[in-house]
Amino acid sequence: LPAFPSPSPAFPSGSPAPAAKPITGPWPSAFPAKELCSNCGLCLSSVGVRHVKEACAFIGPGMSRAESLEHAVHGRSRRYDPSGEGDLSEAHFGVHEEIVYARGVGIDGAQWTGVTTAVALAWLEAGKVDAVVVAAGGAEGDGFAAPAPLLCRTAAEVLRGRRVKPSLCPSLAVLDEVAADEGIKRLLFCGVGCAVQALRSVGARDGQTPEEALRLEELFVLGTHCVDNSPTPQRALAFVASLPSVGEARARDVLAYEFMADFRVHARVATAGGGEETVKDAYMTLPPSIGVPSIADSCYSCFDYTNGLADLVVGYMGAPFERDSEMTSAPLMVTVRNERGRRMLGHAVAAGRVEVLRRGGKGGVGLLSEGDRTKITAATFKKDSLVQTLTNPAYVAGDQGAPPLVGDILARLIARTLPRGMEFARYSIDYHYLRNLLFVEDRLGAERAAEHVPQYAKAIMARYEDEVRSVRGGGAP
Ligand code: SF4
Ligand code: SF4
Repeated sequence: LPAFPSPSPAFPSGSPAPAAKPITGPWPSAFPAKELCSNCGLCLSSVGVRHVKEACAFIGPGMSRAESLEHAVHGRSRRYDPSGEGDLSEAHFGVHEEIVYARGVGIDGAQWTGVTTAVALAWLEAGKVDAVVVAAGGAEGDGFAAPAPLLCRTAAEVLRGRRVKPSLCPSLAVLDEVAADEGIKRLLFCGVGCAVQALRSVGARDGQTPEEALRLEELFVLGTHCVDNSPTPQRALAFVASLPSVGEARARDVLAYEFMADFRVHARVATAGGGEETVKDAYMTLPPSIGVPSIADSCYSCFDYTNGLADLVVGYMGAPFERDSEMTSAPLMVTVRNERGRRMLGHAVAAGRVEVLRRGGKGGVGLLSEGDRTKITAATFKKDSLVQTLTNPAYVAGDQGAPPLVGDILARLIARTLPRGMEFARYSIDYHYLRNLLFVEDRLGAERAAEHVPQYAKAIMARYEDEVRSVRGGGAP
C-alpha cells in the first residue's frame, strides 16, 4: 500500500480544523487503503477525511495503532503475557472489567435479541446523549445486505438498526452532520471495530481528542464483535442465494443470517403470509467456491474481532448456543470495558431493556467454557479455503457443497468436537487471526504485515508457530 500524504498541515489544539474534500471516486480504488478499505465512511466526510492518514485501520501501522490508543480510551492498556504462554484473557477480549451473558428485552424483530439496540435506546431515552449513530436498514428494519449510517434523534430511528448484521457500512460518513449540529453535545456511536478505531483517532494529528475535534462534550461507543463481512450487497445476496434452503428465488427475502456455533448458517426468511421462518444449512452444504469471494479484503486483514476501543461490546461468539437454540432467544456476550460501558449497561438493565443472565469475571471466568481449542484451531486453519488458495497452487475450490443429509450429519459430528462458550470464542479468534496473518503477509509483504498485526494478536498466535511455519512452506506439520 502506498503511504498516504497528509491532506493539509496540522492545526493547533482548540482551533476548528479546516474541512477537506471527501472522496467521491469509486470504491475501493479511489480510497487511500485501496482494496483493503472497509468503507468505514471516514473518507466520505470532510471532517473525517482530513485525519485518514492517522486514523485509517489499513494505512501505515494499520490495526496495530489501536493498541496504543487503549490507554487513552480505557485508562490502561491490555494486560497479557506477550510470550503467549500465560494469561491471554485481555489479548483475546481486550481491556475489560467484566463479561456477561445478556438478552435484550422487548426489541421485536431484532437480528438477535437486540441487546445493542436496547442499550442505545435506553441511553437515548434517558437523555444521556443527544443523538445515536447506527447502521440502519430500511424503514421496516430490514436491509441486512446494504445498511446505511443514520444519525438518530428518536427511538424510532434507533430501532432501524435492530436487524442489521455487523457489516461494511460507512458509519463515519455522518461525522459532518454531527459536527454541523450544535445541538449534539453528547453522542453515542454504534459500530464495528475498524470504524471505532478510525473514530478514536480523529483529531490526533492536531493534538486533539475526537471529542475536541468533533466539538462534543461526551462520546460513548457501543461496539459489536465483527468478522468476515461481505464486500458488497451483491456479494451478500450471492452468498445467501447459495444456501440450499434459500436459493436465488428467496435470496431477497432473507431478513437476517449468521454463522452459528452449531456449524450451520441460520437464515431468517420472510414468508408469503407476512411472517418469517428460520432455515438452517450446514456449512458443508455451501459450495466451497462461495467462501473466499464472500468476504471483504478488509475483513481478511482485520485483527480487531472484539472491537477493542469500544466502551461496551456486544457479540455472540462466547455465549452458549445449543443444538435447538435460536438467534432470537439465545444469550449474547457483552464485554464491559470501562466506566462509560458500565454506566450504559447498568442503565439499560435498570430501565428493563436488558436482562443480565450470568456475570463473568476476567476473561469470562464463571461463564460457560468447555473443551480445548488448540488442536481444532490448527485443523480449521489448515483446511481453510483462503489459506489453501494462498498456499497450495493445486487447490481448486469446488462449486458443489455436500448434500444436505451428509452436511447435517457432519455438522452434528463436528459441533460435538468443538469447544463451547468462551473457549469457542477463543477458537474463533485464534483461527481468524491465523488466517488473516497469511492474508496480510500475502498482500502487504512480511515487513508491513509485521507492523500491521497488533502485539496481542502475535501473543495469541505464538502457540501455533509450528503450524504457521508449515502452512507457509506448503507442508503439513
Ligand atoms: Fe478511508 Fe475508512 Fe477506507 Fe480507510 S477504511 S480508506 S479511513 S473509508
Ligand atoms: Fe471492519 Fe474488521 Fe468488521 Fe471487517 S471484520 S468490517 S475490517 S471490524
